[in-house]
Amino acid sequence: MIFKMFSNGELDRFFEILATGKVVGPVKKGESAAGQPLYDFSVVYDISDLHLDFDQTIHSAKNFFLPYLSDTCSFKIDGTQWHKDVDPGAYQPLVLFGLHACDINALNKLDKVLLAEPYPDTYYRAKRAEMFIIGHACQPTPACFCRSMGTDSVLHGCDLFLTPLGDEYFVEVFSSRAFHALEKIKTREPRPADHKRFQEQVAATKNLFTTEVETSDLTKILDMEFDSPVWANWGDKCLSCGTCAQVCPTCYCYGIEEVVEMDMVHARKTRQLYSCNLLDFAEVAGGHNFRPESKSRLKYRYYHKHRGFVEAFEESLCVGCGRCGVNCLADITVPEVIDSVRTGVVKDD
Ligand code: SF4
Ligand code: SF4
Repeated sequence: MIFKMFSNGELDRFFEILATGKVVGPVKKGESAAGQPLYDFSVVYDISDLHLDFDQTIHSAKNFFLPYLSDTCSFKIDGTQWHKDVDPGAYQPLVLFGLHACDINALNKLDKVLLAEPYPDTYYRAKRAEMFIIGHACQPTPACFCRSMGTDSVLHGCDLFLTPLGDEYFVEVFSSRAFHALEKIKTREPRPADHKRFQEQVAATKNLFTTEVETSDLTKILDMEFDSPVWANWGDKCLSCGTCAQVCPTCYCYGIEEVVEMDMVHARKTRQLYSCNLLDFAEVAGGHNFRPESKSRLKYRYYHKHRGFVEAFEESLCVGCGRCGVNCLADITVPEVIDSVRTGVVKDD
């Protein structure tokens, strides 16, 4: 691992160098009813719009590489021939500026599914290859439990990671691309005192987590509690709106639809993200629905994240960002659901 330091002023210069391409980062979008700032990932044209001091964004950056709705390709009939055009937008370079560790780890988890041979998602792969990712240290909110999920630090998956230390940044360099990009600004080698300050900062951040999720033996407990009455309780609350999947950095399920235009000459293949909580998620041809009840759909989401993915990849599909709980109109949160499965008690009943 290579470490560097640069002054806060050099960040402006670094942004300018990177901003020759599309830069996406946390920007302020408004205020909550309680007057708290609301942040979301958005295209950034001026560094003054970049809020690296954000606590959490409403959505993850997923929308920029797994958009809610996208045309994957279009078709045109031309006499006896037909032509297929693939979305050229898939290959544009993208700088993700200011991702927290949880969101970088979410990308690493998506990679395990969407880049897996023998059938990788070629659209995702093309976008992933063109990404330059700058991580940034976070300040945990009461909803965050990434520390419990082991996703509060980054070992790979970004090009560099910034930790503010007063009027300088401590930089962890993860790629040769980042190393060469940093050659264009003024940096210095960190001194032993800088390493010490960095370690103290990391330790202080870890102490700020207030929410914990007990994950030991969770897969076994889920196996044993498949018929627990708590699922009906959560299912009764769930509105089957799908918001949790939309804001989640690791939900990737999607549907494909082929749309023929009215002129009968053009057609499009569209891809739309979907949610396993939606009523028709498990409906098949003929109208049979394998999960007609909200409790079975909600349960499926938890079993996929905390049971099936663990069996397949030896890690949870949840990174503990807390977004699903913050944005759920029914106040359903991962820590409370998991706690209720363990104890058999739904606390707010
Ligand atoms: S956001 Fe909440 S109410 Fe909506 S589907 Fe998810 S768990 Fe159910
Ligand atoms: S399930 Fe909820 S807490 Fe876990 S990664 Fe998705 S949005 Fe974040």
